[in-house]
Amino acid sequence: MDFITGFNRDQLVMMDFESCVGLDSWARTVDMFVDILPMEELGFRDVLNSEGRPPYHSSDMLKLYLYGYKNRLRSSRQMEHACKVNLEVIWLLKGLRPSARKIAYFRKDNATAFKLAFRHFVGLLKEWELIEGTTIAIDSFKIRAQNAQKNNFNQKKIDRHIAYIDDKIKEYQDQLDQEDGDVGEQEIETKIAYQESKKERFRNIEKKLQESGESQISLTDPDARSVILHRNIINVGYNVQAGCDARHKLFVNNDTGSVNDTHALSPMALDAKELLGVESLDVLTDKGYTTAKHLDICTKNGITPYSSPKDHSSHHNGRYPMVDFKYDAIKDTYTCPADQVLATNGSIYNKAGHKVKHYKNREACKVCPVRHLCTTNRNGRFIERSIYQEALDGNQKRVEAKPEYYRLRQQITEHQFGTLKRQWGFTHTLMKGKDNVLSEVNLMMICYNLTRLMSILGPEVLKNRLKRLVPEFSALFEVILAHMGSFLLPRNTYPNFKPARNTPLTAP
Ligand code: SF4
Repeated sequence: MDFITGFNRDQLVMMDFESCVGLDSWARTVDMFVDILPMEELGFRDVLNSEGRPPYHSSDMLKLYLYGYKNRLRSSRQMEHACKVNLEVIWLLKGLRPSARKIAYFRKDNATAFKLAFRHFVGLLKEWELIEGTTIAIDSFKIRAQNAQKNNFNQKKIDRHIAYIDDKIKEYQDQLDQEDGDVGEQEIETKIAYQESKKERFRNIEKKLQESGESQISLTDPDARSVILHRNIINVGYNVQAGCDARHKLFVNNDTGSVNDTHALSPMALDAKELLGVESLDVLTDKGYTTAKHLDICTKNGITPYSSPKDHSSHHNGRYPMVDFKYDAIKDTYTCPADQVLATNGSIYNKAGHKVKHYKNREACKVCPVRHLCTTNRNGRFIERSIYQEALDGNQKRVEAKPEYYRLRQQITEHQFGTLKRQWGFTHTLMKGKDNVLSEVNLMMICYNLTRLMSILGPEVLKNRLKRLVPEFSALFEVILAHMGSFLLPRNTYPNFKPARNTPLTAP
């Protein structure tokens, strides 16, 4: 018996690249998928100059990106290397070897086109009835930004740095008072000058922060924010919003911007509704999204939110809970457990970005025999009611009436994040700026939806569907279908489809 040995390196071999790529390879799916995209309509610019080196076609570059993002090859240098050594990539790009610089610029220059490509794909999935558009779950995940934590500042952090520098300077000045040698004095003065320059830097950052009107500022990537990655772990990054359809758990839309989910419900839900072109929509979200104003916007726009209700603070302080206070919608008053009426003066107050009315009855509370069970406030019980409280109450009733429906949320939306982060390594972004970060998100989501399609339909059926959308194959397929019946799949009903691969390059 001998070891298993490889081939003889000196032996000449005749081979074709076609046979090097498996029939169910991701490269083949990407190849066909990109060929059906209307690249020009999506905003990819393919322009031939009369002079200079001819450019690469954007469809070839997009194929490279979609292949790379699914296979943990996200940096332009990794992709450049793959173009030389990876047989599937060599097949996919027909031997093209774009430089890392060209690859990087393609991603940087096509943020809008990536977004439109993803949305175009979602439209196609809706036409294929793989996205239903009846129930959407919205959730978010965090990724780290290209910005070190030490380059992110809020006022408190700046104050802390300046206070530390002031202490240092004072310490050096005390030393200076005691020093009598020239050499020692010079050394201390240099140290003081260094601390002064540091202080000046923090003053400049403080000025920028105040001018921005934001609560924090990031120096390397201005759009990045300090976010909570896990329980108590804070890092500078992005909070990426994602909407997923209930039918096959496919991504529908995405966004990023705010550090938490408080103000994300209605923008995401309205965007999904418009993109899917539906009249009504159910949206499932967790507690972080439960904001009265956004629930109200949703309900007024044909969207029915099922968002986990937040507990009122009185739930935890052992006093009379809010359910013991009866609201009278006609009189706009509350009746407390001691049968006293708490009224409002009608003013609307802004509390941490929420609009609320105040209800109280100071006189009754002063002499109330059960006051110790109700409040510790010396002015008596005080109720804050959101001006959108009806939307909050309606949401609570819906969730309580259908708890099993609300619980679908976790099944619909969270496991995709695990795939993106753990399997495909999307724990951090390589780009700077919100739009460019969303380019990465859109590429990831195209890859995810395409991968899901391969498992929902099977690689063969998916390829057949895609082939039917490629102009040179579609005529042939019509003939095949006429003879064999439509066992393969439903007919192409995607009305907006306009094949654009091989779109003639236009000279300026
Ligand atoms: S303290 Fe005021 S609000 Fe509370 S039960 Fe007594 S009267 Fe009613």
